[in-house]
Amino acid sequence: CGIVGVTGVGDALPYLLQGLQKLEYRGYDSAGVYLTDASGKNALIKEKGRVSKLAEKAKAHGFSGTAGIAHTRWATHGNVTIENAHPQKSADDRFFLVHNGVIENYKELTETYLQGVHLVSETDTEVAVQLVDKFSKDGMSTPDAFRKMISLLDGNSAYGFLLVDHEDPETLYVAKKKSPLLVGVSDHGNAVTSDAAAMIDLTKEFIELRDGDMAIVKPKSVVIYDAAGEEVNREPFTLEIDP
Ligand code: GLU
Repeated sequence: CGIVGVTGVGDALPYLLQGLQKLEYRGYDSAGVYLTDASGKNALIKEKGRVSKLAEKAKAHGFSGTAGIAHTRWATHGNVTIENAHPQKSADDRFFLVHNGVIENYKELTETYLQGVHLVSETDTEVAVQLVDKFSKDGMSTPDAFRKMISLLDGNSAYGFLLVDHEDPETLYVAKKKSPLLVGVSDHGNAVTSDAAAMIDLTKEFIELRDGDMAIVKPKSVVIYDAAGEEVNREPFTLEIDP
């Protein structure tokens, strides 16, 4: 339902928690955050109910990170449980993914590609992250595995995706279709969000992604590819907002 992510910031957790709090008005049933630093030290924290409960749990954990992804979930596939909250992860704890939307053909994809993979949640989203892991194990680079997973999604599916690979922890892989996502840019770190207002503590400069786009967001760079896979240059706009 709501997505925020940051990379290359001094202290990731406060940006992510404030972002989730600003997304609360959209409604949700559970929330979660994945935090990492450049060395790969990481933490995955999820909670049912209010963002303030997640915030308490995350602060008690004591790790903030320099990058991270976070999500407020509005369940479409699977009950409201901690296992079903996002981020969802691959079985070997390498890939972490948050998702807004619905993957229509997740059952068919599970049968075709994930025989023998133990799924721990009931969500369509877990299938997406396990597919990325599978294609990566088959020898694909992470951008190629991400692109391949997206290419298999049924045309009626909707997604805003934000993926982290533990082997390259400060890189955010982003894609969207029929669900809004913006990249926030600044000279002290970059962000991804489903609602620009959730990231105004970091920046007011945003690039709006289009359907079919994929983006690779690092602490000091943003590269965007269109639906045809061509690198494109999209100018940021400045969000005008009352403080
Ligand atoms: N379909 C996903 C789920 O049920 C994502 C729902 C959402 O957009 O929050 O977990």
